[in-house]
Amino acid sequence: AATAKFLFGQQSVMTAVDSQSLHHQLFYLPGRACSSRRNESVVVVMGATGTGKSKLSIDLATRFPSEVVNSDKIQVYRGLDITTNKIPLAERCGVPHHLLGELDPEAGELPALKFRSLAASAIEGIAARRRLPVVAGGSNSFIHALLAARHDPRVDPFAAGDSRRGRRERLRYRCCFLWVDVEKKVLAEYLDRRVEEMAADGMVAELEAYFAAEGAEPGRHPGLEKAIGVPEFREYFEKGKGAKKHAAAVAAIKANTRRLAEEQVRKIGRLGESGCGWALQRVDATAAVRARLEGSAWAAAWDRDVVGPSVAAVESFLES
Ligand code: ATP
Repeated sequence: AATAKFLFGQQSVMTAVDSQSLHHQLFYLPGRACSSRRNESVVVVMGATGTGKSKLSIDLATRFPSEVVNSDKIQVYRGLDITTNKIPLAERCGVPHHLLGELDPEAGELPALKFRSLAASAIEGIAARRRLPVVAGGSNSFIHALLAARHDPRVDPFAAGDSRRGRRERLRYRCCFLWVDVEKKVLAEYLDRRVEEMAADGMVAELEAYFAAEGAEPGRHPGLEKAIGVPEFREYFEKGKGAKKHAAAVAAIKANTRRLAEEQVRKIGRLGESGCGWALQRVDATAAVRARLEGSAWAAAWDRDVVGPSVAAVESFLES
């Protein structure tokens, strides 16, 4: 069944890309607006931190020949792999990833407009290799900048009160949006647990090396300065360690991670019905995350509630 699904996926992708190159030949006129040639099919995996976006993107890539384009504004930089939760190489199962740890953190913050052009080049390359581009990551400002037909850096698409209800914002690609959601309380508990595990498992040593490399030049890595973990641990490393300071830093990371997750869910809402009107397909990973918290087998719930509906959504997207 897995092989049949894989082949089915491959055929679907090729059909989509073939019809798109026919579209190129028929409709692309040199000098015309880019939107006439930017009709690649793109799968977008969205969700708050800790919901399993990276895992889902790999699960999809093992069924449909795909490459992943990272859309987390902190994970684009080299370094702090544990602190920023980059998917480890071993878990990528050989799936090529773009814009993941590629940029120099000393080069400054990546503007959304620049991300739009870098990620668009990655998508074009993936489509040219006749694979499915899967955009995965939690920065909804980057997702909007990449996918909206028009991007104006002066406009904040998430501004409160800017409701465009009833008016669907045009997309630059043909998109299948998958939103991995987890009940707020369950996610908060899981995120707390994850921070504790990270703190016990390499994050603090990684941050120590980061601050040591900064040396006498604080702010030398502007790309990573805002990564959750860096501001919270700065005092601990710069003004003298101690159990109290350590506990305060871990508590601040927990609170800021929870806040980030809430803000991400609000922004996803704005990309969906209450704003841009993009058709987000929500998959519910609550049972899988709860099972992880309880220490019970969670893979069956993940496959049933997340992978199954996502694969079905991508299959029907590629057939349509
Ligand atoms: P904003 O405009 O608030 O930056 P955004 O949608 O552009 O929002 P988010 O991905 O929500 O970007 O990131 C907001 C902040 O959350 C980042 O500036 C950073 O402090 C933190 N953050 C996001 N992703 C990570 C990560 N992978 N690791 C550590 N911190 C992160």
